[in-house]
Amino acid sequence: MKGVVVKSTGSWYHVRTDEGKFVECKLKGQFRIHGIKTTNPVAVGDRVHFDFDEKTGGVITQIDERKNYIIRKSINLSKQAHIIASNIDQLVIVSSIVKPRTTPGFIDRLLVTAEAYHIPAIILFNKIDLCEAEKANDRLHELLDLYNGLGYQSFPISALYQTGLEQVVDLLKDKTSLLSGHSGVGKSALLNAVDPNLRLKTGAVSEYNEKGKHTTTFAEMHPLSFGGFVIDTPGIKEFGLVHFEKQEVHERFPEFRALMHQCRFGNCTHVHEPGCAVLKALENGEISATRYRNYLSILNDENLDAERITN
Ligand code: GDP
Ligand code: ZN
Repeated sequence: MKGVVVKSTGSWYHVRTDEGKFVECKLKGQFRIHGIKTTNPVAVGDRVHFDFDEKTGGVITQIDERKNYIIRKSINLSKQAHIIASNIDQLVIVSSIVKPRTTPGFIDRLLVTAEAYHIPAIILFNKIDLCEAEKANDRLHELLDLYNGLGYQSFPISALYQTGLEQVVDLLKDKTSLLSGHSGVGKSALLNAVDPNLRLKTGAVSEYNEKGKHTTTFAEMHPLSFGGFVIDTPGIKEFGLVHFEKQEVHERFPEFRALMHQCRFGNCTHVHEPGCAVLKALENGEISATRYRNYLSILNDENLDAERITN
């Protein structure tokens, strides 16, 4: 039998069969994945083959090759990585202008991650019902213009007032989307609004249990009733990038990528070099000052050398 892993608790894997049934599976023997050492051999999003028997339940025997995957480096900087999810068609960034305020710095870090994995990214600005004040409304339109202009589809929505949700349904339909955004921006509320069958818990979610201990949360894949899947990553604050070098950062900014071949020096970092096409575009206002600032911030990120990006 075949299916896709929708949830994993470490030793058990919840698999959704192609017929829409759910089976709890264990792993058969040892699985090894080429190239990277991972703490989890099977991840949410993996397409697996399994045997089923009434007594023992499901046993995963094979994993199909992954189209892509997003990893998180272990906190202790060991060489072990944790695969958050695999076979992702698109990254959906959920943000809000107010309550809470998502900074372009946060959005740009996620976009850079998506670019590095070659995963298309979409940005949703939720809670537009709270953007009536002139300042918030200006900010909303500024960011919509900026990101749409860069080629990232961006939409203003309100999960609460069900504004713009038809577009969200169109975007999610028949795709596997990784949902990302700060806690409190309305990811659960949005999913419930587009698919009321999901009944996800909303409101301030504590990342600590009663004893004050940090609880480990796992990615979970939700099948959508209109087709497609959404992967939610509660509590996961950072996506790691393997083999991500400083010299690569500019390639992850499409507007820099378009200009970098016009710089005088082939190894231009676009920071101080004469004849830099990016700096010239920044001066002319063709490149956003905010984007450039975030480029510098990512470039100067000390963690980059430790091969990780923190958002
Ligand atoms: P999550 O942590 O990203 O999953 O956020 P939740 O879905 O739990 O939402 C956090 C809070 O924001 C909840 O109290 C929601 O009711 C509220 N919320 C979600 N969407 C909207 C919206 O479009 N407008 C307003 N005003 N509040 C919203
Ligand atoms: Zn340059």
